[in-house]
Amino acid sequence: MQTITVIPGDGTGPELTSATLEVLEAGGADLKWEIMDAGQTAYEKGMKVLPDEVIDSIRRNKVALKGPLTTPVGTGFRSINVALRKALDLYVNLRPVKTYKGILSRYNDIDLVVVRENTEDLYAGVEHMVGEDAAESIKIITRKGSERIVRFAFEYARTEKRKKVTAVHKANIMKCTDGLFLDVARAVATEYPDIEFEDRIVDNMCMQLVVKPNLYDVLVMPNLYGDILSDLCAGLVGGLGVAPGANIGEEAAIFEPVHGSAPKYAGQNKVNPTAILLSAVLMLKYLGQTEVAVKIEKALSEVIAEGKEVTYDLGGEATTSQMAAAVIRKMRNN
Ligand code: NAD
Repeated sequence: MQTITVIPGDGTGPELTSATLEVLEAGGADLKWEIMDAGQTAYEKGMKVLPDEVIDSIRRNKVALKGPLTTPVGTGFRSINVALRKALDLYVNLRPVKTYKGILSRYNDIDLVVVRENTEDLYAGVEHMVGEDAAESIKIITRKGSERIVRFAFEYARTEKRKKVTAVHKANIMKCTDGLFLDVARAVATEYPDIEFEDRIVDNMCMQLVVKPNLYDVLVMPNLYGDILSDLCAGLVGGLGVAPGANIGEEAAIFEPVHGSAPKYAGQNKVNPTAILLSAVLMLKYLGQTEVAVKIEKALSEVIAEGKEVTYDLGGEATTSQMAAAVIRKMRNN
């Protein structure tokens, strides 16, 4: 049986995570979990915000399911999430974007995946003031960083039986950095003749995604464009409450919803468990437990489509745990 690390997280994280573990258990997932505190919760217990034991646990188990974390001010971290991704070299940020019947959105046939590079680009954190009146930030793109993310996108496309990979860049202006990314993408694409390849300049890509998103399949891009485009894509299918994500490296992977800890709703058993449940579905697929993944996703999409036992943001009155219970009932009846 596979052991995973579970970080319940802060704010609404614990209620979302416990609802998810109930669904995983009811769905028959072949999993055991090791529960670990981090973030505000660890801090309030007198521990470090990112205890070494958390990183050790993820290294040992290789897979984690994580609720959102709040980074307490004054703890020396800009973001615990970024620190965790750096510590484990989780270079892929994977964000599937799919329309579900019952969730209000502009389109009803979107099914695309954003693959964002997670470690380089303007997020390398090399920035400084130049005197008092100017500031400089350095954009870092490497051949190795570009190659591994583009290769991941093609491998993912192949495994998931997807047809096309689109590389997104601004190589017409940033000829060195984005130029290198694009050159590498073109070279890697030649190794995957079964998958169509194209590239788009990022501004045009934004427009295309708003106007005809169903033309796209797997999108791969450097960090900053990925940050912006993945939220644009989440908006196309109903917002952050329903957007799952994963951060994946060679040694470990962390599955987590895209949204934050929504502290104003903490302890109210009110927020939508869809994003974390879909993150758990992604995790099960990653672990090869596809049958359970499909079962949970099917039940969840049926609960959403019926619209009777859904949370406030989907127009219903159900609590987090009632919506999870509805998913469990649906799985048992299917
Ligand atoms: P947030 O995502 O927590 O909340 C923004 C708003 O989105 C909420 O007020 C709520 O209306 C809505 N929302 C979020 N999740 C929802 C859900 N599951 N169901 C229904 N509605 C939902 O963003 P924020 O307020 O900017 O951040 C709050 C805290 O979370 C901050 O401390 C931030 O650093 C942290 N954060 C953590 C992560 C992470 O751990 N990956 C990501 C983003 C933000």
